[in-house]
Amino acid sequence: ILLRLKNFMTHIQVIGHKNPDTDATLSAIIMADYLTQKGYSAIPYIQGDLNKETLYLLETLGIKEPEIKSELNPELPVALVDHNEASQAPDNISELQVEWVVDHHKINFSSQSPLHIRIEPICSTASILFKMYRESGLNISKEIAQMMLACIMSDSLLWKSPTSTDEDRAIAFVCRPVTAAP
Ligand code: MN
Ligand code: MN
Repeated sequence: ILLRLKNFMTHIQVIGHKNPDTDATLSAIIMADYLTQKGYSAIPYIQGDLNKETLYLLETLGIKEPEIKSELNPELPVALVDHNEASQAPDNISELQVEWVVDHHKINFSSQSPLHIRIEPICSTASILFKMYRESGLNISKEIAQMMLACIMSDSLLWKSPTSTDEDRAIAFVCRPVTAAP
């Protein structure tokens, strides 16, 4: 009973990098949904004020802005998205229990204990999250698909970035808004 109560009280703190961009912000929200569907409790956070693009997207998609935190609770597990380097992480990273990392940047990360870590050379963290949903057979809601597409379009600089891959293009196609036939 105590253990179940502890699990109930626990939530995973999901956070993107400093100077949050669209992928850091929306991927934190998407990862929190992913973890929730996996049976955890998870809350997305951002590390600072959002840029105009991300604010516009949140408003257009009708999504609440995550709470800003520069430090996280060391008692609770952490999921880092869209970054893994300590310099991009919350200020008290050295005392945090990082249990998940999902990212598409170069690795500069060390850990005292085993963790779930997923890094792929594709154009956005959201692209990796898309694959994680599919691999787990989880439902990708219309809202989540819109957020994934926004992250891909933002990080690929509308496909101008050399980091965009055919896999990102295929994922973006699946996530595209489908309008009803007239
Ligand atoms: Mn980013
Ligand atoms: Mn990114």
